[in-house]
Amino acid sequence: MSEFWHIDIDIDGYGLVCVNTSPMQELAIYRQLGEYLPESGGILIGKHLNSGGRLVIETLTPPQPTDIQGRCNYFRSKAHNELAQEVWKASDGHSTYVGLWHTHPEPRPHPSSVDKQDWRNALKKSGYEGKHLFFFIVGQTYTRCWVGQKKRFRTYIELVGEYCHGE
Ligand SMILES: [Zn+2]
Repeated sequence: MSEFWHIDIDIDGYGLVCVNTSPMQELAIYRQLGEYLPESGGILIGKHLNSGGRLVIETLTPPQPTDIQGRCNYFRSKAHNELAQEVWKASDGHSTYVGLWHTHPEPRPHPSSVDKQDWRNALKKSGYEGKHLFFFIVGQTYTRCWVGQKKRFRTYIELVGEYCHGE
């Protein structure tokens, strides 16, 4: 599968995050372009590659019927964790949970305080490989990527890239 969006993570020599074409195309579909389209969200699934600390984000979980989707709020249900678990098993443990995504009804998205709390909880409480999780917010024009890291008792979140979907 082709790689679509490259994000060079210059934090502690992390390396390159590559996002495949299909999740980016899917995210573009969930953009809140119409006035009444609700927020959507889910989990990012990827593979950690041993060479050069690279991560490939391969796929995502789409919104689930048990999610709560409002115009300016979104609640991600546990169904996503179960889907991620199934993908993990089917791939012999190679494809794993690497982050979260959700949409915002603004061109260039900014995380709300609720978003940051959600991300901190994910970093502290969810099980994941390595020390980092990636957080996408899909705006109407740009998708932006933040990386989160847990170091001892603190969490660090930093904006690392953005992709323009075009008008
Ligand atoms: Zn948000």
